Amino acid sequence: MAPPPPRVLWIYPSLPLLSSLPLLLLLLFHALSPCRALRNYPENEVTLLDSMSALADLGWEAYPSEGWEEISVMDERNTPMRTYQVCNVMEANQNNWLRTRHISREGAQRVYIEIKFTLRDCNSLPGVPGTCKETFNMYYYESNNANLWFIKESQYVKIDTIAADESFTQVDVGDRVMKLNTEVRDISNLSKKGFYLAFQDLGACIALVSVRVFYKKCPLTVLNLAQFPDTITGGDTALVEVHGMCVNASEEFEAPKMYCSADGGWLVPIGRCVCKPGFEENKDVCQPCRPGTYKASATDAYCTKCPPHSSSPQEQAEECVCEKGFHRAETDPRSMACTRPPSAPENPISTVNETCVTLEWSPPRDTGGRGDITYSLHCRKCSGDGRKCTPCGSSVHFVPRQFGLLSASVLVTDLQPDSNYSFTVESQNGVSDLSPTPRGTVVINVTTSQTVSVVLKERRSKDSVTLAWQGPERPNGAIVEYEVIYYEKNQREQNYTVLKTRSNMMTVDGLKPGTTYVFRVRARTDGGYGSYGGEIELETSHEDVFAIGDPNQSTILAVSIAGGIVLLIFLVTCFVVSGRHCGYIKAKQDPDEEKMQFQHGRVKLPGSRTYIHPHTYEDPNQAVRDFAKEIDASNIRIERVIGAGEFGEVCSGRLRVQGKREIYVAIKSLKAGYSDKQRRDFLSEASIMGQFDHPNIIRLEGVVTRCKPVMIITEFMENGSLDTFLKKHDGQFTVIQLVGMLRGIASGMKYLSDMSYVHRDLAARNILVNSNLVCKVSDFGLSRVLEDDPEAAYTTRGGKIPIRWTAPEAIAYRKFTSASDVWSYGIVMWEVISYGERPYWEMSNQDVIKAIDEGYRLPAPMDCPVVLHQLMLDCWEKGRSDRPKFGQIVTILDKLIRNPASLRELANSSACREDPSTPEFSVNTVDEWLEAIKMGQYKENFSSAGYVSLDSVLYISVSELSKMGVTLAGHQKKILSSAQGLQTQGTHVQV
Ligand code: AMP
Repeated sequence: MAPPPPRVLWIYPSLPLLSSLPLLLLLLFHALSPCRALRNYPENEVTLLDSMSALADLGWEAYPSEGWEEISVMDERNTPMRTYQVCNVMEANQNNWLRTRHISREGAQRVYIEIKFTLRDCNSLPGVPGTCKETFNMYYYESNNANLWFIKESQYVKIDTIAADESFTQVDVGDRVMKLNTEVRDISNLSKKGFYLAFQDLGACIALVSVRVFYKKCPLTVLNLAQFPDTITGGDTALVEVHGMCVNASEEFEAPKMYCSADGGWLVPIGRCVCKPGFEENKDVCQPCRPGTYKASATDAYCTKCPPHSSSPQEQAEECVCEKGFHRAETDPRSMACTRPPSAPENPISTVNETCVTLEWSPPRDTGGRGDITYSLHCRKCSGDGRKCTPCGSSVHFVPRQFGLLSASVLVTDLQPDSNYSFTVESQNGVSDLSPTPRGTVVINVTTSQTVSVVLKERRSKDSVTLAWQGPERPNGAIVEYEVIYYEKNQREQNYTVLKTRSNMMTVDGLKPGTTYVFRVRARTDGGYGSYGGEIELETSHEDVFAIGDPNQSTILAVSIAGGIVLLIFLVTCFVVSGRHCGYIKAKQDPDEEKMQFQHGRVKLPGSRTYIHPHTYEDPNQAVRDFAKEIDASNIRIERVIGAGEFGEVCSGRLRVQGKREIYVAIKSLKAGYSDKQRRDFLSEASIMGQFDHPNIIRLEGVVTRCKPVMIITEFMENGSLDTFLKKHDGQFTVIQLVGMLRGIASGMKYLSDMSYVHRDLAARNILVNSNLVCKVSDFGLSRVLEDDPEAAYTTRGGKIPIRWTAPEAIAYRKFTSASDVWSYGIVMWEVISYGERPYWEMSNQDVIKAIDEGYRLPAPMDCPVVLHQLMLDCWEKGRSDRPKFGQIVTILDKLIRNPASLRELANSSACREDPSTPEFSVNTVDEWLEAIKMGQYKENFSSAGYVSLDSVLYISVSELSKMGVTLAGHQKKILSSAQGLQTQGTHVQV
């Protein structure tokens, strides 16, 4: 853009360079105009003096008077501009001074002086003497006095000698560009109120067009929500430390500070402020949280939506308010949903053992949204009719504790025998105390066992003693058996014997003559063991004569003889049918007695009976008569239909037995129009069931055969069949409860296998569950596998077999044994842990057979502890002798129940598949190796047997494994084959 035409009138002194000055000032004016027009200085500069903005005379001192001269010129807006000029180049010895007025420093320690000037090149001036200069000097003098009229030259401090960067020479040459020189110098460490500036000319031709004096500051700024004020830069000590102030609605998180640098820039920000609770940061300010959002802590960055079950109707909320019925515990983070107290515990179970009771329950269905559920118990002792209850007091003890229990079980000890107790289990969580609603509770009523009352009768001979006793008057359930313990006086620790019987008398023989024995008796009911009665000391006679100790001895004698005859028949039958030695059974008067001798607390000779197949009876009705009690139909009250059996309906009802209270029963009846064979088959179940007596086997109460319909009466199992029960309560039990159920089933199966009974159709559908979650094995009909079971399918060899539950050797060549029952038990375990899932899902029977043959095994169900899946896999060993025995299964499950931590490690379903392509793992220690082959449960056995390095296990043998407690054949095999693998593959194992 072309410069505007000059419209100024120049007033200038008498200078020798008249021809060039108008042009010089004209150009100069053009060069300065933009500066004058803009007049805006950088943000970080504060101007103390600007000669160009002076409207009147600058009033600067110049001496001598023929030296510097103030000249006013007009700019294009007709505004006068002050300049000083000197050009005494023709004369020597020049010393012209120009001094500003006093310039206040306004607190600045360092000020800058920017001068704009033009300077003639001496060479361009024709005829000037050699004294011509091309520089001038700049000085300052600090003073508190603003009105000094004279300052000695020597008092000034020199700032610098100023030379032109661009001096102009020939301004009348059209293509030469004249430039205005700009120089900036600074003076620092000023301390007085102000200073004077002075310019010394020693014979140059200068036009001092503008002098600006300024200092620098760091401008007000907001950083990290802290405001830093305008700050004057320091003197020579460059950085000024400045503390920031938190902006509105914010607070210090870490003291905010910055440094103001010499050139007016902010440096090194440290610390910050944060918006107070209820406010959030938005572009350097803190603004309130909107309704529906909150900010609990200053350190949270932003407002967040209210958590579930809470709201914030107003803005600026620091927390959201819980909805009605929901609460927030003091320690709950504000971001957590509001929660409520839990519902009541569920599925209570009690197991009485003498004067102790174990109470177990399932966690509440509604946890209230919290994970901190605890339980507290309240104990009350009640009168017989249950009407009057009083608190139990401090004599009753709770293990681990009464209040604030973390697990859903407790052991209560020191109860009184033969007493009724009512336990209230209360569930609570972190907000229960805040809620006015009553706590969720469940009541468990318990009756402790009665002590068996004193022995009423006794009979002694040289080597035997007969005892009789009175059972508890009000047992806490049906009496399953009595246990008689005896030992030679003072010898209990060394050698004692336990005998069991269902009758309430017993002859103990095989005793030493003339020796004193101590006897104690206790009863066992469905609910557990009662306490032992008092000790009875009896001495066998030296002679083989009866010691008359009771007026009723003749009755005893008669009963004993009758008992002896029954026993004899039983023994003979036993020999004939099973070929087994029945010599273990030494108590002769009752075929139901079992005897176990203990030495140093260990079983010496376990007594057992053998199951008698009803088909061995020529007359099957005789088997029914032998094993099942005939019940008078008038004592049965049928109440409702609960299921359908193969032979007719299954109903529930009540049975009244003389002298006993009414009990709930299940009644299976044979439908009308049956054939003889159907009647035989129907009743065969009773004659099988009647031989069993175990808390985990469904108990036969009796049969009705003398009138129609023919009926089988069994104990009533309130929760029906296990598969349906589990499906109904999917996911509701603790793993300990599930293991407890499995333990019961295994214990029942151990009893059956000890009696050489092979079930052949063990499946969850054939297990019944009572109200205490006790599982009992049922379904003993002879025809059941063939006809009754809807799961049974015909095999190529003609038999009908429930394929999914049956061991391969039983499917292939009908080899049914207790080991094949163990296979089925493994499937039941899988059904239980998966809450009634169908084994092998929708695979066809043929595919199942093929997959099993190829080595496929069911993977671990969801949330299945690794140890349980391993036990399943052990039950599904191809070789039947490699599978664990039921006794071993019971022991393993007992250990797991005693040590629930062992159930914590969950199997990963996919890793649990027996997949031949499973990867190899590299192991370095015995522990790692055992873990890798899923035998981690034996880590302690190995280390305590001294197997601490991998080398040491390379040649381990079966007998060494047995010695260290690895007794399961399947586990021994797995460990041995992996150890052999270590020999060949080094430290890589296949898992
Ligand atoms: P079953 O003929 O033994 O298979 O019985 C048929 C159905 O009747 C079973 O699936 C059970 O639901 C029910 N049931 C059989 N026995 C009992 C019992 N003792 N207590 C309760 N329910 C039973």
